[in-house]
Amino acid sequence: MSVNIDDDELKRYARQLRLPDMSIVAQTRLKKARVLIVGAGGLGNPVAISLAAAGTGNIGIVDDDTVEISNLHRQTAFTDNDIGRSKSQALCEYIRKVNPYVNATPYDEKLTILNARRLFSQYEIIIDACDNFETRYLINDTCVLLKKPNVSAAIFNHEGQLSNYVLNGGPCLRCLFPEPPPAELAPNCAEAGVLNTLSNTFGALQANEAIKLITASQKPLNGELVHFNLSNFEFNKLSFARDPHCKICNQNQSIRQKVSLYLSLHQIDQDDQSPAHVWTYQTLRNKFANDEPFTVVDIREENELGDVEFQADYHIPYSELSLSNRSFKKIKTPVVFCCLFGKNSLFAAMKMNTLDSQKYYSLKGGILNLTEKDRWDKI
Ligand SMILES: [Zn+2]
Repeated sequence: MSVNIDDDELKRYARQLRLPDMSIVAQTRLKKARVLIVGAGGLGNPVAISLAAAGTGNIGIVDDDTVEISNLHRQTAFTDNDIGRSKSQALCEYIRKVNPYVNATPYDEKLTILNARRLFSQYEIIIDACDNFETRYLINDTCVLLKKPNVSAAIFNHEGQLSNYVLNGGPCLRCLFPEPPPAELAPNCAEAGVLNTLSNTFGALQANEAIKLITASQKPLNGELVHFNLSNFEFNKLSFARDPHCKICNQNQSIRQKVSLYLSLHQIDQDDQSPAHVWTYQTLRNKFANDEPFTVVDIREENELGDVEFQADYHIPYSELSLSNRSFKKIKTPVVFCCLFGKNSLFAAMKMNTLDSQKYYSLKGGILNLTEKDRWDKI
């Protein structure tokens, strides 16, 4: 698709276009760029505002949080009138005012293993502006899986750190920090104190790295972590390489092994389950009533079968689940997997959906969530 910079935009960007390493070509790259910001808080606000004002054409913002009065001192796109509103929507609205040439898309949802690949695959650069380790590692692992650069910053008290991970085959977050710290040792901004000067500084630095990646005008950080403390200006730049034994980005794993590991590393909250992978028992009954074909597969392991009796079309234990399984080859309809709690069945549905064009679903809540009558009724 051809993208042109019009006369109004030339005036708007005139001062940045005077830089020796900027050009119409670089500005056009910015206009075409697609950047996804995860987190619309202290870092996400300045990142979004800077990228929008500089002319980044397509910006997505993921956050399921709403604006609170305690956010206003550092999340400067929000005002008292925004309290109670969706952060992703309020921030998108604000950056459209900053620059009407920006196409801003809010995703008012929590980033989880169920939506991460769908969201990330629509963008070229991912900005980690989140405030917790669970999301930070999910962003990293999804970027590794999809080979997307991850512009990441983290702040604490008066200090912050910045790096680009998974950039042109470079190291990932786990190459440097293999595992997140235990939850009790990892306070986020909701608990720790923070000044807006720190979040604005590191948010602006993230936007600066993203602009470098998009315009190819300057050398971005790669295999380097910048750390500095605003209270005493202590500055460190640490170099690190890709770890050949890194759990997620080592090159000795097949894509199937990577997907299995990815699914096992991240928690799934029952409330986060999206209808793309999950059917409720009521959905099953409705489909049966409407004569829509489907196949029920019980994936409990042999040692779990004694707990509860359940009617299914096939029994294929989770550990034997693969496309080459003989029973599978006979199934020509959408498949709904059932297990005791609805967790293994969700992993199974997600795994099989990545390997096969057939549709796979998980029975929400599992067999234990059904009444005894439901379990015995032939669906
Ligand atoms: Zn790695």
